[in-house]
Amino acid sequence: MTLRPLALAALAALAIAPATAAAQGGMRAGTPIKPGEECPAGMTEVRPGNCQAPTLPAPSILDYRPRSTLVTTEHLVPKAKYPAIDYHGHPTQLGSAEALERLGDDLDRIGVRVIVAANNISGDNLVRTAALVAASPRMKDRVRLLTGINFSGVGPGWAERAVAQLEADVKAGAVGIGEIGKGLGLSTRKADGTRLRIDDPALDPVWQAAGRLKMPVFIHTADPSEFWQPIDYKNERWLELALFPNRRYPADQYPSFEELNRERDAMIRRNPGTTFVVAHMSWYANDLPRLAKMMDEMPNMLVEVGAVLYDIGRQPRAARDFFIKYQDRILFGKDSFQPDEYPYYWRVFETRDDYFDYYRDYHATWKLYGIDLPDEVLKKVYYKNALRITGGMPQQGWPR
Ligand SMILES: [Zn+2]
Repeated sequence: MTLRPLALAALAALAIAPATAAAQGGMRAGTPIKPGEECPAGMTEVRPGNCQAPTLPAPSILDYRPRSTLVTTEHLVPKAKYPAIDYHGHPTQLGSAEALERLGDDLDRIGVRVIVAANNISGDNLVRTAALVAASPRMKDRVRLLTGINFSGVGPGWAERAVAQLEADVKAGAVGIGEIGKGLGLSTRKADGTRLRIDDPALDPVWQAAGRLKMPVFIHTADPSEFWQPIDYKNERWLELALFPNRRYPADQYPSFEELNRERDAMIRRNPGTTFVVAHMSWYANDLPRLAKMMDEMPNMLVEVGAVLYDIGRQPRAARDFFIKYQDRILFGKDSFQPDEYPYYWRVFETRDDYFDYYRDYHATWKLYGIDLPDEVLKKVYYKNALRITGGMPQQGWPR
């Protein structure tokens, strides 16, 4: 069956529900379509080649909220089974000792032992934040900081300055670099006004310094591919794009999804001595064969799972196979710091639960399923892989 726009799926459900037409002795006359054609807007295919409109006004996708009648067991997982490292942390509570305490309470509640702040902080801000963390007996081993790279003004002399800043930030306690934002590639300009390509050779000295300093580079490139597609009723992210117009990437203003990934891949391949952690599973979690190919071709990269849980949880069998095959190269990360959302990740990773909601309707119009990862894989995804690739992490007290 072809993928239908949501509105039509909703129509289909409603068209089936009222039994009146059938009870009155058969179907109303429909609108015929030829093989390969779709029903006209406002109709759904009730029998092969025959479309009908519902007898009631159809709800919008915002208002159609059917109660699931599925009876199934529910295993909520408020806290991760093993202590987790959130490699894609954006904690906002790093500004004071009191805020840090509140962060500790949040992390305790959800089972995150260490949050890696991927907030691009550098220079004085990094020194100040590292000192604040170090001064807290409770939190000194619960927060780690990534430093940022300032990509503005790339041109003569830029690389020397950036490498010097990176070296200073490593001395100040940074354990990695990131998150390198999607602005690199999408919008950042060079000193000469041209777009800064992700694989611009001018950046290589920084990637090479990262390898030499053993700093993993955490990089977010592009966005879900639907953000480049027409905003019509075929678009899986229609609602998100309608809610947030700045997430659209018109072809006349931005490089394509494919171009951005090509540049990112060229950069990773050209720097085999540097470890890259690709955020959001490279936005390929909806195309695991493609992600597998990338993993196979680039041994110096790992992936992080933040904000693509809706794609992992809608293909529990394929996702489980993928996680088992690449268990040494997947890191847990959450992105936006909302403590109430972490348990959805634990539930997808740890249970066999069927058909449950994701936390944001506008990301996923569908339901999720648990992928039931084996304990050893969970441990690797939750903390072992992050500990292996990242110096300066607390090494004691993790389950074996
Ligand atoms: Zn992020």
